[in-house]
Order: sequence, then C-alpha cells, then structure tokens
Amino acid sequence: MNTDNGGGGGSAGDGDRDPAGGVNRVDTLDIATARAWIHAVALAVTARRDELTELDAAIGDADHGANLQRGFAAVEAVIGGPGYAPETVGQLLTKVGMTLISSVGGASGPLYGSAFRAIGRSLTTPEADGDQLSVALHAGLDAVRALGAAAAGDKTMVDALTPAVAAFDETVTAGGDLRAASRAAADAAEAGARATTPLQARKGRASYLGERSIGHQDPGATSTALIFAALAETLEHHG
Ligand code: ADP
Ligand code: MG
Repeated sequence: MNTDNGGGGGSAGDGDRDPAGGVNRVDTLDIATARAWIHAVALAVTARRDELTELDAAIGDADHGANLQRGFAAVEAVIGGPGYAPETVGQLLTKVGMTLISSVGGASGPLYGSAFRAIGRSLTTPEADGDQLSVALHAGLDAVRALGAAAAGDKTMVDALTPAVAAFDETVTAGGDLRAASRAAADAAEAGARATTPLQARKGRASYLGERSIGHQDPGATSTALIFAALAETLEHHG
C-alpha cells in the first residue's frame, strides 16, 4: 500500500473523515490491498451467509448467501494461490469477475461478475488512484444496469450500487482519499440497501411477488453494502 504522507497536493477538502489533513492518506489501491479486499468480502459473505439467505427466503429462493459463498470461495481458490500473479489491479479484478460469472448460477453471479469484470477492464495501470477507481466503479454500475436493466428504485443491488458510486465519486472530487471515499461509499450503500425495504420489486425473482415484496430488504442490495464495507474496512486497517 502506498501512502502519501502529506507530500504533494491533495490536502484540499480532506473533510472530517481525514482529520489528519493529508497525513496517512491512502491515494492508491495496489494489488495486495485489492487482494485483501476480496479476501475480506469472502470472509464477510461466509459470516453473513445465513442473513443473506434469510433475506432471499423472504422475497426470492433462499440461495443468495449460498450463491455468493460459492462464488467467492471459487474466487479465493483462483486468486489466492501462489501461482497467480496479476500485473495490475485491473487484471486481478477482471479475474474475480470472470470467476463469479462462471461459478454462480443465480442472477447475482453474472451481475456481480460483470461489474467486477468492467471495473477490472477499466483499470490498466499497476495501481489505481481515486479518479481511476471512480471511473471504474461507474463502469461497474453501467455493466450491472446493461445486463439487468434495473433502474434505481426497482429494489435491486442497483439501489445500493448507485448511491455508493456517487458517494465515492463525490468524495474523490472533493479531495478525499480512498479511505474517505470507500467509507462514504459503504455508508451510502448501507443506506441504499435499507431504503429498499418499503419498495416493491420490479426486477428479478422478487418482482414475481408483486406487493408482497414490500417490507423486506433486498438481498442483493445488502450484499452490495457488504462489498463496499469490506473495502472501507480493508483500507482502514492497512497502511
Ligand atoms: P437469484 O435471484 O437468481 O436467486 P440471487 O438470489 O443470488 O439470484 O440474487 C438476487 C439478487 O440479485 C436480488 O436481491 C437483486 O438485488 C439482484 N437482482 C436480481 N435481478 C436483478 C436485475 N435484473 N438487475 C439488478 N439486480 C438484480
Ligand atoms: Mg436467490
């Protein structure tokens, strides 16, 4: 992990989430930290598998926890081995996406897989800075929307992903570092996931329930919040 100990630029608009005013900023995501993020997602998916399954039992088919656990276990097997040596953060995240697509049967596998693949393909340098990550996250959101055709308010992962990407972008634009941007994104994703509860599903399996989907938090929006929380926690504990 590279940290910029107050050297160049970047002190403007650090805000209350970077009270040190530029000291201990995290300005790039390197391969090791990206790996640690994905490992943290795998651990969180395992820890919260039953919760995700219960959410999906209420408005779907009770497999969201199992789908993600299977997917991230496959990802860990592929990227965790000593023989896997990506040259860029983008290659690593593209591999994550391809593995999710090929190992998860449910809707969430191709959706998350396409998102990680689009994020990865957008990141062509060994490490990624905030502006690059912001562009990449927008590409990930675009990929989910292109594949699933869900708009904000349809009670899907898009309801967590959209505000998360916006919060990340706004924080980076205001001069915040990756810790601040990922924390803002995680908080926005969590709020977005909670806000799906009163909505009626218009996409995915839950839409078959019509009005009976109202009153339950969307499982995919919940796992999207988990993924951003894992990024924020990984960056908070590194460097
Ligand atoms: P499945 O619905 O095939 O059982 P999962 O249970 O793993 O797959 O994932 C369900 C989640 O996928 C939903 O909670 C929702 O967030 C997301 N999802 C389903 N369909 C779409 C879609 N068309 N666009 C975006 N997200 C979707
Ligand atoms: Mg399901």
